[in-house]
Amino acid sequence: MKIVRLIYASRLTRDTGPDALGKIMTVSRRNNKKLGVTGALCYSPRGFLQILEGPADMVNQLYVKIIKDKRHSAVTLLEYSDIPYRDFENWSMAYVRADEIARTLLQKFSTRKLFDPFEMGPTQARGFLMAVTKERADFLAKQEAAIRKS
Ligand code: FAD
Repeated sequence: MKIVRLIYASRLTRDTGPDALGKIMTVSRRNNKKLGVTGALCYSPRGFLQILEGPADMVNQLYVKIIKDKRHSAVTLLEYSDIPYRDFENWSMAYVRADEIARTLLQKFSTRKLFDPFEMGPTQARGFLMAVTKERADFLAKQEAAIRKS
């Protein structure tokens, strides 16, 4: 079956704070593993940016669920396309908070100091999510190495 990539941006609804994220991530990682879906989710007070990749029917099915979720609104599709390979093959759902992203990285992908997913085009959004996920993975690897050393 063909693999597709889906990228969307959305706004948080009023009661959705960082505490809701824990639940979303736990459920996402559990479900996505079963569905063969990989990707990344970036959270900021200005909204969510998510990339989903995997078998077309699984991504479609999941997106229908996500659109209906009341924890966000204005879900706006940025890209849906066939892809030859995944970019996030090691992540059932990588998670990044925009306020933890290095300023230099934000400057590279954005015209603003604050991250706003609605300001990004699809290529920009994909590049941004790949870069922040790599930054996160490098950070975690360094942390792990420091713990092993101590
Ligand atoms: P259930 O077993 O029905 O629910 C699991 C738990 O999640 C519930 O106990 C409840 O605590 C909580 N929950 C579920 N729906 C809601 C809701 N609407 N409001 C408040 N709490 C709720 N799901 C994925 O599987 N993969 C993803 O990558 C993914 N990404 C998401 C990104 C965003 C920005 C948001 C807002 C949601 C995302 N979700 C994702 C969640 C998705 O919308 C569904 O809630 C979830 O897939 C339901 O899974 P389930 O049928 O196994 O859940």
